[in-house]
Amino acid sequence: MKLVLATSNKGKVREIKALCEKFEVIPYSELIEEFEIVEDGDTFKENALIKARAVFKALDNKELIVMADDSGISVDVLEGAPGIFSARYAGENATDKDNLYKLVEDIKAKGVQSSPAHYTAAIAIVTKDAEYSVHGWMYGTALAQTKGKGGFGYDPMFIPDGYEDTLGELEESVKRKLSHRAKALALAGLVLETL
Ligand code: IMP
Repeated sequence: MKLVLATSNKGKVREIKALCEKFEVIPYSELIEEFEIVEDGDTFKENALIKARAVFKALDNKELIVMADDSGISVDVLEGAPGIFSARYAGENATDKDNLYKLVEDIKAKGVQSSPAHYTAAIAIVTKDAEYSVHGWMYGTALAQTKGKGGFGYDPMFIPDGYEDTLGELEESVKRKLSHRAKALALAGLVLETL
């Protein structure tokens, strides 16, 4: 079954491919030209649905199933920031590195070395007949420093509960088992089986 992803983020595509082996996973940019999607929802779920709907409409092929995710990190000492603004925390055209270092600095500015934090992933699935959404979470600690170069985004500053190393240091296979996206994808897999 063909599953079109409403993302071209290489880190996410890699993780989703590894977790959805039963499907032929295709980033939408391989089918149509990439276009800007305004993510103006107030929640991860709304933004995932906005992306999946926009790509489903643009593909104009009712046989395809489109899946979108919206995710981010929420840091307790920053009252949940950056949350749904994780991708543009350091500005509209910020890179993953800009966002990472801004978050490190903002935690430092609170006068602490670390804070409880969690990642959220919302996944939306849109077909010609229905819309679905599921969530997953990963809890841990956000550090006011980076360690390791693995993963992507905020991974080098995040230690998952039960571990001593950051996601920048841990093997990708460890993250695949624990991650917010893995948990949401496991639920998304159940939805996909019903289609
Ligand atoms: P989205 O593409 O709108 O979902 O943006 C998600 C933002 O959160 C991006 O800045 C990502 O780098 C960050 N993010 C989401 N999931 C992860 C993860 O698993 N590790 C590191 N950063 C993540």
